[in-house]
Amino acid sequence: MQSILTINGGSSSIKFALYQVGDPLQRTLYGKVDRIGLSGTSLTFSDSTGKQQERHSIAASDHRSAANVLIDWLAKQDGFASVGALGHRVVHGMKHIQPEIVTQELLDELQRIRPYDPDHLPREIELIEAFRKRFPKLPQLACFDTAFHQGMPRVAKLLPLPRRFDAKGVERYGFHGLSFAYLMEELAHLGDPAATTGRVILAHLGNGASLAAVRAGKSIDTSMGFTPTAGLVMSTRSGDLDPGLAPYLARTEQITSKQFYEMVNHESGLLGVSETSSDMRDLLAREADDVRAAEAVALFCYQAKKWIGAFAAALGGLDTLVLSAGIGENCPSIRARICDGLGFLGVELDEARNAENAPLISADTGRVAVRVIRTDEELMIARSVCRVLGTAAAA
Ligand code: ADP
Repeated sequence: MQSILTINGGSSSIKFALYQVGDPLQRTLYGKVDRIGLSGTSLTFSDSTGKQQERHSIAASDHRSAANVLIDWLAKQDGFASVGALGHRVVHGMKHIQPEIVTQELLDELQRIRPYDPDHLPREIELIEAFRKRFPKLPQLACFDTAFHQGMPRVAKLLPLPRRFDAKGVERYGFHGLSFAYLMEELAHLGDPAATTGRVILAHLGNGASLAAVRAGKSIDTSMGFTPTAGLVMSTRSGDLDPGLAPYLARTEQITSKQFYEMVNHESGLLGVSETSSDMRDLLAREADDVRAAEAVALFCYQAKKWIGAFAAALGGLDTLVLSAGIGENCPSIRARICDGLGFLGVELDEARNAENAPLISADTGRVAVRVIRTDEELMIARSVCRVLGTAAAA
């Protein structure tokens, strides 16, 4: 049997999945190593049915040791011997427009661009290297979250800074590309004509959150920027801020650039405003009694609405709106608040469809199809491995 392993390394977790090659790809095992570098590090996994879940505590103080524990564990699993190729999610890929086979040159390049994304890239490189060391013959593919947006028009990429920075690659890259690419493929499978010829806004609303404006299947703008800290307010990231704030805080509070980085990435967003939680479910449970939670939720919905308005303007109208990821897929009240008042664009929700997380939640009278699609970055990686490496790689 031939199969593909996917690895999605986050800042404190490593998600993995095993797929049996075929049409369609069949997921046979999935799971994650969680809380790396914190107390209570664990490895959780499920079989293909999702019913048999198991959780093991593991000792792994950093990503390198977590990767080695994971590799040891994976090597003992049924089906691992048939793994013919490995696909990684790599958050930053600068100018790469498609997935690339990992070579020493690519690794050297990723090392060089580490400063672009110090939260993710060093860990992703470590993971690729750990697998390379243990399985030197196994082909590995790097799937870049930035690739989906590489064709954006110049005006969407250009940052209004002195031109010398542009020459150094300081521009809007955009992220969540694997999720967006997957959502576009699903939209095409659903037979929505907007997937190939129309105007689509994709909203990936998870802990990290961003939106993309897509015309005729191509990203024309996105809310994240040079880094994933930009755009919409997120669970712990601030999203867009006034650039004057950094020097103001440096002057008045002696905040260093490192402290500023920590603050806007890990202490801001829903967590910063609510002072209690970065998790939307917690905030919804508290909003009736805690004005800070209510304000955090309101800020998220208001900003998401503004981005939809901005992208509808960039697209010259809207045919389909897709809501996805943890909040977009599961949370009717947030979807309703985001879409409330967008009737002028043709966005009208059907209350009952929205309440049951139906795949199509717009009212029949609305001009815009509003869809809830479960994103699947792992499956997108596995599909990319098949496309780039072909079945020969999985032999
Ligand atoms: P990540 O970006 O880490 O993959 P997810 O896509 O899982 O995150 O999204 C996590 C967010 O989704 C959290 O804010 C969580 O509260 C929210 N979420 C998940 N399920 C629900 C739900 N049923 N209602 C509201 N929010 C939910």
